[in-house]
Amino acid sequence: MKKYILIYLLLILFLFYTNGFYTYFYFEKEDIIEDFGEFSISKYPYNYDSVFLVTVDDVSYYTDPEKLRRFLEYLREKNVTPTLFVIPLHAGKDVTDNPELIRVLKEYDVEVAQHGYMHKEKEFKSKSYDEQIEMIKKGREILEKNFKIYGFRAPGFYHNFETSRALRDLGFTYESEMSVFDSFYIHYILQIPYTVHGRVFMTHSLESSVEIPENAWTPKMKEFADWWLYRKNLIVNYKINGDDLYIYLSDYKKGLTIGLRKNYRVHIICGKELEYERKGNIIIL
Ligand SMILES: [Zn+2]
Repeated sequence: MKKYILIYLLLILFLFYTNGFYTYFYFEKEDIIEDFGEFSISKYPYNYDSVFLVTVDDVSYYTDPEKLRRFLEYLREKNVTPTLFVIPLHAGKDVTDNPELIRVLKEYDVEVAQHGYMHKEKEFKSKSYDEQIEMIKKGREILEKNFKIYGFRAPGFYHNFETSRALRDLGFTYESEMSVFDSFYIHYILQIPYTVHGRVFMTHSLESSVEIPENAWTPKMKEFADWWLYRKNLIVNYKINGDDLYIYLSDYKKGLTIGLRKNYRVHIICGKELEYERKGNIIIL
């Protein structure tokens, strides 16, 4: 019996250690309300069933621009705009010193996000808040010579709470470092997990084949993050008056999709009455 206790203890310690697994004990669960009885409000815009985000890691000064171009062309044909996590200063080389690579990134209008600072192993994991602020700022400065940066992923996914706090305080929109569950949550800032079979496809290879689920939305991560935060914070009230359904929204974003249970005449109000498109019982703002 005793030896099993030791094994369990080691297993628990291992889980705590890997990829900041411990943060899952603190996370705020995905709690977007979809069902309002008389109608539902979809999680995703434009009546999409799901989301599918493609992210590429370890793009740096050393990335072959031609190889990257071929991969981006392949994704473009699939109607996906990926998010590329770029290493600002890889093995002493500043990414901006590869102008051809920068040109390709701009041409394909991808989202560039920050992948650590120098991509050293566990670069952020055991660092203090102040140290991380410094490193994140230095890396972002390099990338912001060419791109506006909203997202962050620590090298090897090694991060801690101070990473999240630093990112929030530096005005980032999201981070992406977890892999255990396919769940979006906020701990200081929005955490978008990376997965291989879930809603976020992560690859290091510029040759991988990407299978996109049917009727999935495929935006850049920043676009998704903005949407998710909107959707999470949205407050909905309604009242019914005979055949009229009045839906009151605390905030408005184009693409919000409402499914009706009955054939109501619908009035959507956010400050003023909003226009919408209707197909049968589906309404899209
Ligand atoms: Zn990496």
